[in-house]
Amino acid sequence: MHRPYSGVVKGVLITRSGDKWYVIIQAEQEVSEPKREGRSVGIDVGLDSFAVDSDGAVIENPRFYEHSRDRIKKLQRSVARKQRFSKNWKKAKGKLEKAYDHVTNQKNDFLHKLSRRYVDTYATICVEDLNIKYLKENGKSRGLRRSIHSASWGRFYSYLSYRAESAGTNFIQVDPRDTTQLCSNCGSIVKKDLSVRVHECPYCGFVADRDYNAAVNIHRVGMEQPFEPVETMPLHHISVMQVLSMIAGKPRPSGRGSSPSDLRHCGRS
Ligand SMILES: [Zn+2]
Repeated sequence: MHRPYSGVVKGVLITRSGDKWYVIIQAEQEVSEPKREGRSVGIDVGLDSFAVDSDGAVIENPRFYEHSRDRIKKLQRSVARKQRFSKNWKKAKGKLEKAYDHVTNQKNDFLHKLSRRYVDTYATICVEDLNIKYLKENGKSRGLRRSIHSASWGRFYSYLSYRAESAGTNFIQVDPRDTTQLCSNCGSIVKKDLSVRVHECPYCGFVADRDYNAAVNIHRVGMEQPFEPVETMPLHHISVMQVLSMIAGKPRPSGRGSSPSDLRHCGRS
């Protein structure tokens, strides 16, 4: 058991993956954390980078599967060559499941650390409501690459939401309507399809990275702020390795009142 639980147990789920067994305990508890005061942020998830936020942090897309692909392909071939249900087949299959588990664990670790960092750094976090987004996109072909990513985004948001709740952080999901098309500087609609990576407003001259513009809009809608000239933040890249080492070897800031500039400093180191 890596984490104690509290509250009233509502259910226990036992699953197996490879040679590992997992017990998931579902408990219910009243949460009455006082809401925090402090900085707020808008986060936009994307395909080129994992996320871009309204403070200019660009989070690199993890490629854990790509790194393990050769090994997974090799193990798949090995399973295919063996006689089904034989001893060697089971052994090879076990190895394959382990390789898949490894990728899943890496991905979850990344999402856990990233969500923890945001909750530690900001008192209010605004994201798009993915349910509305997908509902609207229903019927349109989203592509495999997109659907693989959307699973990670959904998980990231659910980690953010549950961490935010126990930390007293406000977690706001906004209507994704026009967050990409709106000019975050003047509020005009600037139509652009997916291939256009830069937002260039013909009305006010504002030029910004497409995802950064969206993140500022998400932040603005979430905080119910009116349109006013954007104070642009320089974009700073945060690598997957930086996210993964965010907690390790570094004491966790003591919850509320932690340094709001923490996340941004990581980008510059
Ligand atoms: Zn504009």
